[in-house]
Order: sequence, then structure tokens, then C-alpha cells
Amino acid sequence: MIHPDTELRFVSPAMGYGVFATACIPRGTIVYVKDPLEIELTPATFARLPEKVQAAALKYGYIDERGTRIVSWDLAKYVNHSCNCNTISTGYGFEIAIRDIASGDEITDEYGLLNPETEVPIACGCPRCRHVLKPDDIDTYHRLWDRWVQGALEKALDIAQPLWELIEIETREELISYLAGRQPYRSVRALKCQSRMIQG
Ligand SMILES: [Zn+2]
Repeated sequence: MIHPDTELRFVSPAMGYGVFATACIPRGTIVYVKDPLEIELTPATFARLPEKVQAAALKYGYIDERGTRIVSWDLAKYVNHSCNCNTISTGYGFEIAIRDIASGDEITDEYGLLNPETEVPIACGCPRCRHVLKPDDIDTYHRLWDRWVQGALEKALDIAQPLWELIEIETREELISYLAGRQPYRSVRALKCQSRMIQG
């Protein structure tokens, strides 16, 4: 489920739709949590789907650490990639705002953490654009992305979190324990799918 202060807007014919903030979303806000309504497709299930349904799942889904393809039931599936994203996946199963997002800003995400199966050209037009997503982006960039996540997490307990109750209780406890210095940080590397068959 995506943060309630969001709406779908048409961006451009090339980009299609995107998700925009309808109120200020401060740094440290949980912006997306994988919830029980999400569609989950194992590799075996995906392989049996009709081609057109597979194409929709490829366009709108992402692959989690188990190799399961997740297709969001709500606006979350329309969030576009940016190499200069303002939200990012964490090792805790949610996404977090890594900058203050103003009302009217487009919400963007780092697709490099969503287990792209092949090299995927991107045209976000951002400064220092990587131009292509690669299956091993997590290995290349995890230190940078972990710094972004850890900086944002420091704010997480001090601000309104409308999605907090959707996080599993064990994960909430682990997070609180990490922020209190009692437990290690869970790196974004936890998101990397190890068992996935890379399709060439
Ligand atoms: Zn880019």
C-alpha cells in the first residue's frame, strides 16, 4: 500500500503515468509497505500465465528477495524510476522517503533494488543518470543506498507514519531495536534475489 497523500497523474506520452504527492511527505516517512492484498506470483505461476498477463506483470511488478513477482493492487505500481529517487526500498520490506517531498512532487524510486532480470534501458533524464538498470546494481550501489536509508530511518520515529501498522510486528520491533542501537542494521542487500534464474 502506498502512502495516502498520493495521486496518479499523467506525466507524458513517453513516461505514461506517475505518482505525485498531494501533501508534504517528510524525509523518513514510510511511503510503501508490501501488504497482504499485493498479488504474488511465484516463478512457476508466472510461467503459466497468458502472454498478455505476463507482459502486464513485467511492466507493473517487481521481484522480491524470494524471487516472487509482486504486483501492487494500488497506485504503487505506477511509481517511476529515477537515479535521483526521493524514495527507496529498505531491507525491512517497506520504502522510505530519503528527502522531503513537497506537495506536487513526483514520487520516484530506485528500480535497481527491484531485481531487474536483464539490463533495462532507462530515460529518467536525471543528472548523473545511469542510463541502464543492471541485475547486479545492488552489489554496485548498496553502500550508497544504505547510507540514504540509514539517514532517513533516523527520522522515522519522530514523524507521522500512516503506514506504520501495516509493517509486521517483528519487523517493527527489529527496527526500533536497531534505532536504539541494540540490533544491527538490515542492509538493502537483503533484497537481492539469490535464487533467480537470469533470463538472457
Ligand atoms: Zn536516471
